This record gives sequence, C-alpha cells and structure tokens, in this order.
Amino acid sequence: MKELSQVADEIAACTACALSRSRTRTVPGEGPDDPSLLFVGEAPGWHEDQQGRPFVGPAGRFLEELLASIGLKRDQVWIGNIVKCRPPDNRDPLPDEISACAHFLERQIALLRPKVLVTLGRYSLARFFPGESISRAHGRPKKQQGIIYFAMYHPAAALHQPSLRRTIEEDMKRIPALLESWDRIAEAQPEEPPVKQLTLF
Ligand code: SF4
Repeated sequence: MKELSQVADEIAACTACALSRSRTRTVPGEGPDDPSLLFVGEAPGWHEDQQGRPFVGPAGRFLEELLASIGLKRDQVWIGNIVKCRPPDNRDPLPDEISACAHFLERQIALLRPKVLVTLGRYSLARFFPGESISRAHGRPKKQQGIIYFAMYHPAAALHQPSLRRTIEEDMKRIPALLESWDRIAEAQPEEPPVKQLTLF
C-alpha cells in the first residue's frame, strides 16, 4: 500500500527524538496490507536495530511459536512497535520519545484497520489501556471503533520469567475466537468503566 510505504519513508527520515541519533536502522513494522491481526510491542532491540525488522530476536522466535500454536505464520499478521528506533542499551523508551513517535503508529493502524490489535508489554498496554496494569488487563478484550484491543504480556517477559509462559500461551489461544466473533462483540462506550469491568462475551 502506497500510504504505508510513505509512512515507512517518513520514519526512515525522522529525527524528531533523540533515538534517531543512536539507531542503526529504523523499524517501521511489517506485515500484510490488510491484516486481521496486528501486534504492537514496545521498541526495537539490538537484533531489530541491525535488521530494520520487528521481533527478530529471541522474543520474536517465541512470538512465532505462539503464532504457530494458533495456526498462523508471522507473514500473516502485522507486527510493529510503539517507538520505531532502538533506545540505547535497550533502556525503556522515554515519555517524550513515545509521544514524538505516536503519530506514526496511529497512521499505520488507521491504514491497516485490523480486527484485533494485540498489545505486547506495558508500554503498548499504556497506549491502548490507559491506567490499567498488565496483570489485570491481559486476556480481557475491549472493542472500540471497530477494533478489538487485547492485552498480552510481552513475549520477552516469558524468557525472563518462565512462570509467565503459560499465561502468554493461554492468552494467545483466545485470539482465534476473537477474530471469529469480531462482528458480534459489542462496542465499549466511551463513558463506560475501564476494561476490567466490561463483559464482552
Ligand atoms: Fe522519529 Fe520515532 Fe525514531 Fe523518534 S523513535 S526518531 S520519533 S521514528
């Protein structure tokens, strides 16, 4: 899609935050132009910075395993991050960096229009489930403006905390049902309480 390529070109030329000075390559995200499923992680790591592709290190391999567990390959889903350049030493992205980069992801989502958007990790969670904690919000879908938002732990969390592996695997296994029932899930109203109190099924 021409507009998506244009966003990627703008990302490649972007110097709007300090991360532009330390990056090797920008990581705009990748996948089909009309994905049903879109994953949003946090920030590129070393491997991603070298290759200009998202989720290509150990966490990416686990994400591919998780996708395989529901019968999908990574080229069937779109994968991106909250910020498009690697923070030095893999530190957390700073608020001003997240803010400077936000419009790129917003434009990508508007162009891609997935049925289900899965947040991976706490920075992605904070963007789409403001005020929620990952321990409460994970595995609980909400639908707004035609997209089901579904929070999961970051795959890297399972590499550091093996006890989370099963939780992540179980949350992933709920995604096919979300895709199937996308048209039957009611929209959350803006004035309704946070996601933890919504009953969608
Ligand atoms: Fe631009 Fe985003 Fe990279 Fe910052 S992280 S330089 S805002 S593309």
